[in-house]
Amino acid sequence: MSLVRDRVARACQAAGRRTEDVTLIAVTKYFPASDLVALCELGVGDVGENRDQEAARKIAELSERDRNAIRVHFIGQVQTNKAASVARYADVIHSVDRLRLVTALERGASDAGRRLDVLLQVGLDTHGQRGGAAADDLPRLAEAVSGSSALRLRGLMAVAPVGSDPEPAFARLANLAATVRRDFPDATWLSAGMSGDLEAAIMHGATHLRVGSAILGSRPRLG
Ligand SMILES: *Cc1c(COP(=O)(O)O)cnc(C)c1O
Repeated sequence: MSLVRDRVARACQAAGRRTEDVTLIAVTKYFPASDLVALCELGVGDVGENRDQEAARKIAELSERDRNAIRVHFIGQVQTNKAASVARYADVIHSVDRLRLVTALERGASDAGRRLDVLLQVGLDTHGQRGGAAADDLPRLAEAVSGSSALRLRGLMAVAPVGSDPEPAFARLANLAATVRRDFPDATWLSAGMSGDLEAAIMHGATHLRVGSAILGSRPRLG
């Protein structure tokens, strides 16, 4: 944890940014709920999960005090039929990439009497392997989210393409984020940067880093 915090501090300094403006999300997927509790005790305020069943179970295991001390970020692909479940425990959804999902989350959040922070996921990968909307679809999605009283548009999210330099991808993301912000001034969050590329993301304006293995070590195998 302290190694990652050092990397963040150095990268912020290099970019001329304040560390307070960058939120570190500890990605706890595949790790047990006890690791979430340990992170709460270390003062980690933001955790990320990517699979509905696993996340729902782990969040339910937390004490009320621990649950209230953290913000739960859902960072994985959301199947439309899982939207209502995710809306019950997530505080922020990073991966909204289609209108049907906006509608489903809106209904789920309203039914649960909750308000969710939403990021639109942009596909930076030309092969579309890692999900995300096309840049051309962003205005329509942003309009839909901001028109919903149960959802609040906070910004954009992306995963850098696999196996190539993240710099140009993050530069493009920053441009798209600036465009969205012109029409939706509340959309100030930029979720980018993982264990391997958080420095590049900070350089390009990331406000939320999603870091797993660099904090918790390699993930246990699925099973
Ligand atoms: C797992 C995951 C991360 C964290 O990846 P690390 O390389 O372990 O830091 C970040 N973002 C998403 C969408 C993920 O699924």
